[in-house]
Amino acid sequence: MSTTGVSNYFFENWAKTYSCIPKLYFEPQTIVDLQSIVCEAHKRKEKIRVVGCGHSPSAICTTDGYMISMKHLNKIREVNKDEMYVEVESGVTIQQLNDELPKWDLCLPNQGSISELTLTGLVSTASHGTGINYGTMSSYIRSITLMLLDGTIKEYSPTDEFLYWLATYIPRLIPYINQFYLWHESTHSLIIEDRCDKIFNFDCLFRQYVNEWAIPLKETAYVLHKLQSWLDENQHVIRVHFPIEIRFVKRDTHVMLSPTSGELEGNFCYINIIMYRPYEKDIEYEPWWHAFEAICLEVNGRPHWAKAHSLTSKTLRKLYPNAWDKFHEIRRQFDPHDQLVNDYLHRMFEE
Ligand SMILES: Cc1cc2nc3c(=O)[nH]c(=O)nc-3n(C[C@H](O)[C@H](O)[C@H](O)COP(=O)(O)OP(=O)(O)OC[C@H]3O[C@@H](n4cnc5c(N)ncnc54)[C@H](O)[C@@H]3O)c2cc1C
Repeated sequence: MSTTGVSNYFFENWAKTYSCIPKLYFEPQTIVDLQSIVCEAHKRKEKIRVVGCGHSPSAICTTDGYMISMKHLNKIREVNKDEMYVEVESGVTIQQLNDELPKWDLCLPNQGSISELTLTGLVSTASHGTGINYGTMSSYIRSITLMLLDGTIKEYSPTDEFLYWLATYIPRLIPYINQFYLWHESTHSLIIEDRCDKIFNFDCLFRQYVNEWAIPLKETAYVLHKLQSWLDENQHVIRVHFPIEIRFVKRDTHVMLSPTSGELEGNFCYINIIMYRPYEKDIEYEPWWHAFEAICLEVNGRPHWAKAHSLTSKTLRKLYPNAWDKFHEIRRQFDPHDQLVNDYLHRMFEE
């Protein structure tokens, strides 16, 4: 299976709300395996989706093309205690890091509700923990090694000249790159209190439908009051489940399409609404979702990338007035024929 791939593999996300049968499913054991799969897919013009733990509550991982699981490319390659960074392969899970880092008197500065998630899954979706002094997980990345569709491997970091090379094609990127440098230079050391999984993780109980948005912090009270009024007025339409998760997150200064990125002023509040699926039963959630999304849109809120929102490119472009088109210019350089775009992303990315 490492390079040949299996057919008829059934993929289902954690909540069992989305599934697919990819044309071929792969579990590469080495970078060379991965290179050979990606090159072959590229040559054959096959679609590719990579999957981490498959926990995203949306169809973000599904594909009828090639699906690549990174479960075996999960090594922790280096822990640098003095400079407080760790170099890992992209399939590494938060649980692995939570087990390893305390041995070095280190820990992750923040994390979400559970640890059975890959670091790359978190970073790819700008996932977050909680705390007004902490940005999304994407904001803690110092450098990334990417495999391009032709199998070449490149490292991108704030000190890499690649960013400036990219900016020769898109000069408008330069202020962003400068901002990124500024952030990187001013990053402070972190205070270690306890193992972060002990502080932040909790039992998420049951499979669930979730829809989560980031809203400007100053709109929190307004949105919560509006949600309360809607719930009071619509008890005959739908009875919603507890909890509604409310978390505060620091504004990201250098993550282009982070829902908490800099086009809006101040820090952010994430509101996550949940409807449980007891015994995996399908339950009604749509009216609650629609009302929630409409209220968040009133205050220029932005949906969490991993979760099941209903927005299309038309609205998303308005929500990211400066970054959206720039992001797509870059994306097209890496993936000119949309090989990495599935139906779910197509809805959001179509021109
Ligand atoms: C119970 C539960 C609790 C959660 N708690 C939180 C929370 O507290 N805060 C929060 O913000 N979110 C939370 N989430 C959402 C979660 O953080 C995201 O869905 C995250 O992406 C899941 O990680 P994963 O490894 O399962 O990624 P997947 O769902 O497998 O993948 C997510 C995305 O990352 C891409 N990807 C994964 N690995 C790679 C790779 N190696 N290379 C390229 N692309 C890759 C996939 O293609 C996909 O686009 C929670 C989800 C669940 C189910």
